[in-house]
Amino acid sequence: MQNITVLRIGHRVKRDQRISTHVALTARALGASAIIFTGEQDDNLISSINKVVEKWGGSFKSYFSNSWREVISEAKSRGDYVVHLTMYGANLPDVLGEIKENFKHRDLLVIVGGAKVPAEIYGLADINVAITNQPHSEVAALAIFLRDLLGEKMYYQSFPGAKIIVNPSRFGKALKINKGKHQ
Ligand code: SAM
Repeated sequence: MQNITVLRIGHRVKRDQRISTHVALTARALGASAIIFTGEQDDNLISSINKVVEKWGGSFKSYFSNSWREVISEAKSRGDYVVHLTMYGANLPDVLGEIKENFKHRDLLVIVGGAKVPAEIYGLADINVAITNQPHSEVAALAIFLRDLLGEKMYYQSFPGAKIIVNPSRFGKALKINKGKHQ
């Protein structure tokens, strides 16, 4: 399967810690393999995401870049398909087929905004996609996008090397603690 990287632009250390963490955790849990942040460098953000990966497994990567322009241009030169999630875009059900077609043979870069999205991004993206044309949240937009793109397999991913695994139970909390060698 192709890879999905999320580009979250405009992180602010004081105001966005929680929401940027939620964007990253959503990206990881729902099928992306990496997140790149731009905006204000925030080592605490990266280390809290890394702690989740260490405990819950998988190989999700997170890091900062100085330039969203550079991230997008490198993605484009690799041939990745660049999707910008914005309320102004084409509504997802109308373009999902086209995105799935590209995702068969190209990695995806999925851009989500923060407080202010530079106008240039709309032109650089291969496609601007709305999850309804109403304003809501980058976490909700990313979650619905990944669910619609990946379908039910999104629910059944494996996270190798996990120290903790949830034993799904309709009656309460059941965990498996993996004390042995992590594979
Ligand atoms: N005012 C900002 C702007 O210039 O677009 C939007 C701020 S919104 C809180 C943050 C991000 O959530 C947006 O950049 C976009 O990625 C995502 N978002 C919000 N509503 C959306 C929608 N209806 N469809 C797709 N993405 C959406």
